[in-house]
Amino acid sequence: MTTDTAPARFKPYTRQTISQARQWQWMPADLQEAVQVVSHVLPFRANEYVMEQLIDWSNIPDDPIYRLVFPHRDMLHAGEYETLRDLVLFKKDDAAIAKAVHAIRMRMNPHPAGQMTHNVPRVNDAPLKGLQHKYKETVLFFPSSGQTCHAYCTFCFRWPQFVGMDDMKFDARETTELVAYLKTHQDVTDVLITGGDPLIMNTRSLTEFIEPLLAPELAHIQNIRLGTKSVAYWPQRFVSDKDSDDLLRLFERVVKAGKNLAIMGHYSHAVELRNEMAQRAVKRIVSTGATLRMQGPLIRHINEDPRSWAELWTTGVRLGAIPYYMFVERDTGPSEYFSLPLARAHEIFQAAYQMVSGLSRTVRGPSMSAFPGKVVIDGVVSINGEKLFALQFLQARNPDWVRKPFFARFDPDATWLDHLVPAFGKQKFFFESDEDDGHHPLAAKVIPISVAQRAQGKSCDNAHTAA
Ligand SMILES: *Cc1c(COP(=O)(O)O)cnc(C)c1O
Ligand code: SF4
Repeated sequence: MTTDTAPARFKPYTRQTISQARQWQWMPADLQEAVQVVSHVLPFRANEYVMEQLIDWSNIPDDPIYRLVFPHRDMLHAGEYETLRDLVLFKKDDAAIAKAVHAIRMRMNPHPAGQMTHNVPRVNDAPLKGLQHKYKETVLFFPSSGQTCHAYCTFCFRWPQFVGMDDMKFDARETTELVAYLKTHQDVTDVLITGGDPLIMNTRSLTEFIEPLLAPELAHIQNIRLGTKSVAYWPQRFVSDKDSDDLLRLFERVVKAGKNLAIMGHYSHAVELRNEMAQRAVKRIVSTGATLRMQGPLIRHINEDPRSWAELWTTGVRLGAIPYYMFVERDTGPSEYFSLPLARAHEIFQAAYQMVSGLSRTVRGPSMSAFPGKVVIDGVVSINGEKLFALQFLQARNPDWVRKPFFARFDPDATWLDHLVPAFGKQKFFFESDEDDGHHPLAAKVIPISVAQRAQGKSCDNAHTAA
């Protein structure tokens, strides 16, 4: 199944070009139609490697990577699909299509967890484009030239502005601002470069972002992290691209400068680590002294089988990677299609965790990246006859909240933190007592921004970093 004949050069397929792929002929008409229609709303991008090596075409549409990459009609409500289908296939009225698409997207909660209005740092009153600072020790950086990916995940809600952004040029001002901000924030130890996917950039561009972080004034920056799905969608990035070797040399330089270069690899399914190209990518990354952590969201129709997680983690560990987070699919995009009840998410996590040795149990989850922080479901317990979820923060807007157990009433249908009700008849969770963000340690930097052109990129963090 996984002979290593992947093409050397990256070539994406989009809605406009997918019918030229040889696999297109293997798709029944109704699946082709769904791709043509639904991709107006949800992002669609595939590439040769994903289609040749990861998708089992004898098993579509149920194949997990097919579900992950190809839009499906059930990702929209039935009425929405009918309306859009009629507009796209028959009326072909661009203005009406745009209007319908916009309405569906607004219904899909495109900017969850306060990302549009919070966490954006400012210097001299001006919001810093492409930065997000939510947790004390880590600053997120979204270079504008990294706002696309080697393929798109259908669960990852993105606005179509990304289309045509592949050629975005390196913007030196972005690093200047980042460095200026970091210099005045000595408590920041981690910079997480994310997107989209920063490894969509060539090594030269990436170097221009990373090298300034090695400056002596930034000695407090200990960890440079790169959030990326390329390890799964285009492992050639580390093995056989024109500048792969240069990329590995860059990793070595960072390590030599005394920092940890952490690749935060987004993996969704065991199949993504089965073939030789993907395994070589892991080995090449860790051979530079960089670390590779594995994280990804738990998604209905894609990775509900605990055995897939156990295989992913154990294969990763064998190759030198470190299992890190299992996320709960967040409340955005076609979440009705992809989300799982929290109770189920915990069962899947626990089952997978029970299958692996301690070396894979560095993984934590299932974790929700919600407005107050990253909340993990530790389990289901009964106290005084009340069935409860036991929860805690792994990360929080207020560091004092971290690792304090708390309880919510068990709810078999809840899929997100805001569906939960405090246990023991309490009115509020302990972290809800701060009425506003005035108590937030970063409150001074938390400001509303009206047109966050860049915020759309942040919705993708549900996978890479889960903002
Ligand atoms: C997850 C996340 C981080 C990193 O958190 P770690 O637990 O240190 O991996 C940083 N910023 C945001 C906004 C995040 O969501
Ligand atoms: S989840 Fe990551 S790889 Fe997938 S589309 Fe979003 S940003 Fe890209």
